[in-house]
Amino acid sequence: MQRYLDGIRAEHAGVADGELAQYIPELASVDPSGFGLSLSSADGFIYESGDASVEFTIQSISKPLTYALALERIGVAAVDAKIGVEPSGEAFNEISVDHITKTPKNPMINAGAIAAVSLVPGASPDERFALIRDFYSAIVGHRLELDVDVYASEKAAGSRNRAIGYMLQSLGVLADDPDDVLDVYFRQCALRVTSTDLAKIGATLARGGVNPQTGRRVLSAAVVRRTLSVMVTCGMYDAAGDWVSAVGMPAKSGVGGGIVAVLPGQLGIGVYSPRLDDKGNSVRGVLLCRSLSEQLGLHFLTVARDSRSTLRAVHEPSRGIRVYETHGDLLFSGAEQVLRVADRDRDDFEVAILDVSRVDDIDDAARALLSGMSSALRSAGKVGYLVDPDGIVIRSEPDLQAVCFHTVDAAVDEARSWLDRNRRVSPH
Ligand code: GLU
Repeated sequence: MQRYLDGIRAEHAGVADGELAQYIPELASVDPSGFGLSLSSADGFIYESGDASVEFTIQSISKPLTYALALERIGVAAVDAKIGVEPSGEAFNEISVDHITKTPKNPMINAGAIAAVSLVPGASPDERFALIRDFYSAIVGHRLELDVDVYASEKAAGSRNRAIGYMLQSLGVLADDPDDVLDVYFRQCALRVTSTDLAKIGATLARGGVNPQTGRRVLSAAVVRRTLSVMVTCGMYDAAGDWVSAVGMPAKSGVGGGIVAVLPGQLGIGVYSPRLDDKGNSVRGVLLCRSLSEQLGLHFLTVARDSRSTLRAVHEPSRGIRVYETHGDLLFSGAEQVLRVADRDRDDFEVAILDVSRVDDIDDAARALLSGMSSALRSAGKVGYLVDPDGIVIRSEPDLQAVCFHTVDAAVDEARSWLDRNRRVSPH
């Protein structure tokens, strides 16, 4: 893996296209050749290649984080009242709002990000910034430092963002003094991170809000889902459509040269290379993510596992008894398929045994479907047993206790005596 990442980074190292962000004077003076790649697995193992410890400012990658913090603190409804979730198709610093709602179109453009800052609780700009910084720091697992020069530089050159702030105030989106809100926004954008920090942010989102290294839950799963959704549709400035088609991972880029990409359930990627394309995305960062996605099959709409793989095996220990062995993650589609196969076979058995002892995880939809299987069989004059040693199905269905066994052998023994008693078919 390390050799592979070094190799793929080296393949793109020669690309010198793009320009440093010019509109924040301090950003125009960074070393343009910096190029770092970090990848965190969902269990928190970190790979690093190149300039993975070079610090740069987080810039717009702060936007999904502050949005998530606002969602966590004041709830979805209150945030939705002030910030939409529609892609804008406009530049990130467009001085605009949605024509109808008169609120920013989404939290990934500056207007929405500035509004999100104002929704984070805090009696003063310092208090608000402290909350934001502590939150980002908890996500990466160490304290993030402020780049005071970049902060001062952006603040001095921030007319466009001030225009956005005052516009939002005039529309009633900002309740606070726009300069106070902008001050916090400029500070959050000037927090220093490395590509490894970005990979950790990505992995925390990939894990549904748990930092895999510290084991600490920093965000709720519902907030992560909302945040990733907005990253999919609006995370890569007005190049979001190209990005989703070619790379297929929720992501966010910043004009500091960073990109964070998330493959839910699997990994987080952080890239740093400060030369930007005309949309504001890191040129080498985009190319590298694209290659990684193609070569490692990371596109999130890749239909990887066909639901047949839920059924590991079906066997018949005695005439009239069928055992359905399931494995992997049991979600709605997998459970539906198990039920359909059992239903199709039902003339061939008297007792169906559903073995879920090899299932890693199950969701509520699958649990509900499977727990209905036994009563459905009963009404068809058959019997359904469950092998569920860890209680993953019966946890919420205590009624099934009576038909639940610890091992397939125990269930088969019981099935045989049921058949003896009922003499519908004679066992071998
Ligand atoms: N601080 C930058 C700005 O507001 C962030 C922009 C970005 O990274 O897209 O212009």
